Amino acid sequence: MSRKETVSIWILLSAFFCLAVLTAVMWHVSRTEVPAYTGRELTGVKKEEVAGRNSPLTEYIYLTPNATFPREDKITKITIHHMAADLSLEEAGELFSRTEGNASANYAIDSEGHIGLYVEEKDRAWTSSDPENDACAVTIEVANDEIGGQWHVSDEAYAALLDLCTDICRRNGIRQLTFTGAANGSLTMHRMFSDETECPGPYLESRMAEIADAVNERLTQERQDTF
Ligand SMILES: [Zn+2]
Repeated sequence: MSRKETVSIWILLSAFFCLAVLTAVMWHVSRTEVPAYTGRELTGVKKEEVAGRNSPLTEYIYLTPNATFPREDKITKITIHHMAADLSLEEAGELFSRTEGNASANYAIDSEGHIGLYVEEKDRAWTSSDPENDACAVTIEVANDEIGGQWHVSDEAYAALLDLCTDICRRNGIRQLTFTGAANGSLTMHRMFSDETECPGPYLESRMAEIADAVNERLTQERQDTF
């Protein structure tokens, strides 16, 4: 091989290397880019635009930068959490947006049954102590109307939870929610992924199978109605 050929090959290899590095950097930047409209309540046209690509049941939007943009996997699961508090949707928005908190959820439901959006469905919320689960799960925080004990949630919050789970399944093509009591089901709970939490508390945990059944009944009914 002549000296000229060797130089050409090295130039070519260097060019490929630079291109690969540039591609990797661009990919990383695009994945971690935090939208400009996080950290505040959304109103008007922006609120409508964001609501339009998430649950139509959403009444309040306060997107947080504490998330991974976009999520890494297709949505195939729902994970239920409790707030361990009785927060309003506004308070949840402020809490999730604290940078030192490093915590968030896709949705939250207050004790009156109102639904807030904090991380868009296309992005991964930091909720369940398990990035792998959250990459394929829509996570929901439910307010407690009993602090401690059974960590009860209001009937209004429970009803909204059924509506939201049904809507998430319908829009994301999840034909059935399965609660197996383990992380392999499509309905999961925070405590399946961490020994350090009781989340979502005894009350919601006792109703998990019932939630899956109720949602599946609605989804089946809707499919029959469309024929
Ligand atoms: Zn939790």
